[in-house]
Amino acid sequence: MADQNQNEGQAETFAFQAEIAQLMSLIINTFYSNKEIFLRELISNASDALDKVRYLSLTDPKQLESAKDLYIKITPNKEARTLTIRDTGIGMTKADLVNNLGTIAKSGTKAFMEALQAGADISMIGQFGVGFYSAYLVADRVVVRSKHNDDEQYIWESSAGGSFTIRPDHGEPLGRGSEMILFMKEDQADYVEEKKLKEIVKKHSQFIGYPIYLVVDKEREKEVEDETVPEGDKSEKKDAENKDDSEEPKVEDVGSDEEGEDNKDKDKKKKKKIKEKYQEDEQLNKTKPLWTRNPEDISQEEYAEFYKSLTNDWEDHLAVKHFSVEGQLEFRALLFCPRRAPFDLFENKKQKNNIKLYVRRVFIMENCEDIIPDYLNFIKGVVDSEDLPLNISREMLQQNKILKVIRKNLVKKCLDLFDEIAEDKDNYKKFYEQFGKNLKLGIHEDHTNRKKLADFLRYHTSKSGDEMSSLKEYVSRMKEGQKAIYFITGENKEVVATSPFVERLRKRDLEVIYMTDPIDEYAVQQLKEYDGKTLTAITKEGLELPGDEDEKKKFEEAKSKFEGLCKVMKDILDKKVEKVTVSNRLVSTPCCIVTSQYGWSANMERIMKAQALRDTSTMGYMAAKKHLEINPDHPIIESLRQKADQDKNDKSVKDLVVLLFETSLLSSGFSLEDPQTHASRIYRMIKLGLGIDEQEGAGDAGNDDAVNLDDVPPLEGDEEAGKMEEVD
Ligand code: ADP
Ligand code: MG
Repeated sequence: MADQNQNEGQAETFAFQAEIAQLMSLIINTFYSNKEIFLRELISNASDALDKVRYLSLTDPKQLESAKDLYIKITPNKEARTLTIRDTGIGMTKADLVNNLGTIAKSGTKAFMEALQAGADISMIGQFGVGFYSAYLVADRVVVRSKHNDDEQYIWESSAGGSFTIRPDHGEPLGRGSEMILFMKEDQADYVEEKKLKEIVKKHSQFIGYPIYLVVDKEREKEVEDETVPEGDKSEKKDAENKDDSEEPKVEDVGSDEEGEDNKDKDKKKKKKIKEKYQEDEQLNKTKPLWTRNPEDISQEEYAEFYKSLTNDWEDHLAVKHFSVEGQLEFRALLFCPRRAPFDLFENKKQKNNIKLYVRRVFIMENCEDIIPDYLNFIKGVVDSEDLPLNISREMLQQNKILKVIRKNLVKKCLDLFDEIAEDKDNYKKFYEQFGKNLKLGIHEDHTNRKKLADFLRYHTSKSGDEMSSLKEYVSRMKEGQKAIYFITGENKEVVATSPFVERLRKRDLEVIYMTDPIDEYAVQQLKEYDGKTLTAITKEGLELPGDEDEKKKFEEAKSKFEGLCKVMKDILDKKVEKVTVSNRLVSTPCCIVTSQYGWSANMERIMKAQALRDTSTMGYMAAKKHLEINPDHPIIESLRQKADQDKNDKSVKDLVVLLFETSLLSSGFSLEDPQTHASRIYRMIKLGLGIDEQEGAGDAGNDDAVNLDDVPPLEGDEEAGKMEEVD
């Protein structure tokens, strides 16, 4: 078709964007047996293109004039070994062809190649937004003819190899829409077989909302008068027949193959039956939308097929909710929870959500804003409203009251859906791995449903072992007299489980929740309580544990006993800490750093430091406000107290206090500003421990690695001297 045309204009050649070229050669060269998915991808693109023009036509009916019927047509041609997929969708302008089919890579291009490397299946291609290139699984040359209302008709063509061409198309006019002509590889002739095509469309595309026609070869019997036709002159007759028939039949004389009946008729009218070949469009899909049917009549397989054709997912859904709302307002909806989070779930500014909006069976728009909150953007499905006007624009929708009611209902149904998933523990585990972050985001965003959402949270705790525990389960295990729910945030389970903060609670058999997801920091700030119990960070100041009177008394005594040491330490550490206090939470650790009630935790400081956008000036005052807590029962603290009592200006007291402070920063989950200095101090202590004389070390010039006293930075207060020594 395309290349038979003599009147074509000048072809322009373009290079594929590098990643796209790479992807194409990967597709061409990878050994892969499930190639049939190419058709699903091309049909899905056709359906998207039809959606787009239908949407435009709602406000501008003239858009449809260029081609009134909306359909997809598949034409196999055995002789030429081509497969043509035609749609009357929106079509592509020249610029669209250049941009969308080769020069602008989407984030999915690279992500898909990485996923393949990691063992993903090629059939996942649609999820990454590069489905078009799957045509090269089966074809070695692809020609795209396209006509958009705003431009002339163009031909795009490529046999891969890094480049494609575009030229004006003066061939048969398309009216509007696109035609993909696949020149099949020699060993892919299967895909021009009717039976195969029917099978694939039924399997992958039966729920497409536009008719999908397959041009099929048919044969029919036809009676013709036989008397004038002498034996052996059938060809002339064929030609004659051809002229009469508008469907260009190929006629074949079946003459003597037909027996009985023919013979009976012979005497009377001398008529003869022949078989003629003709082509017909056969519709392969049922376009009655699934959501309009009665849920009782729909099988799980049908839901799964619908889900896959709706979403391009290669796997079945995890759970589905099919419902209708009646009353003041009427709508039907089908909501699916996928098994897996998409590769770009939390990518900035990605498609808002996955809900398609229909009005009285007419597709209106994808990812309609505000129809579902952000945290539920992984839910896929359709909403079909009876009440919204057909020609509603995005802008109008946002203020629409009907939409608000729909949204409320969708959220409620999603939560019901999660409840259903939670009935099966294993299923819920999978769900939570994939979408736990979304639930936490929900806690942060959706204050009306916060309580309900809190029930869906699962955490590892100091008592949960390998399993995760719900807050409800935690509460059921709470000790008598325990009023708060204790938690600690940190980088990972191992780190928090061995943190000094957890010690005392463990010793008292109090359970601690481990929150190790960055988003936990945000969620827990909003959650504040569960079931009337305050969520309490065990790393923050003023932690009160339920204890007996004896202990309280002991604590008061310790406070006054160590008051002096606290002051000495605060003086030494100066601005590094807000205050130094006596702790009631430590067992085997001499001290720890806690943060103030309302400031950042160590974990939050870590998260903020890791964020690329961080503005270093805010870091200063937003940084966690640190309190040093000392353990009055610890021998190190007790000795230090005695030493300080004797002489608070003792140089070794200063040394030890700074070391203790830095070490507890580390064990409390902070990072050191200057780890080198800290290391040097540790080396000095090691030398002391080994009884190495400082002078000896200094004299050891023969060994560069030896700890040289001159290398050891001075402690606080000696800064000036230190710098001078380093220059040396
Ligand atoms: P996706 O469909 O996820 O966007 P594809 O690789 O399948 O990714 O298609 C790339 C783009 O090419 C589409 O977004 C669309 O703009 C354009 N396109 C592909 N097929 C058609 C078609 N039949 N009609 C109009 N545009 C199309
Ligand atoms: Mg696509």
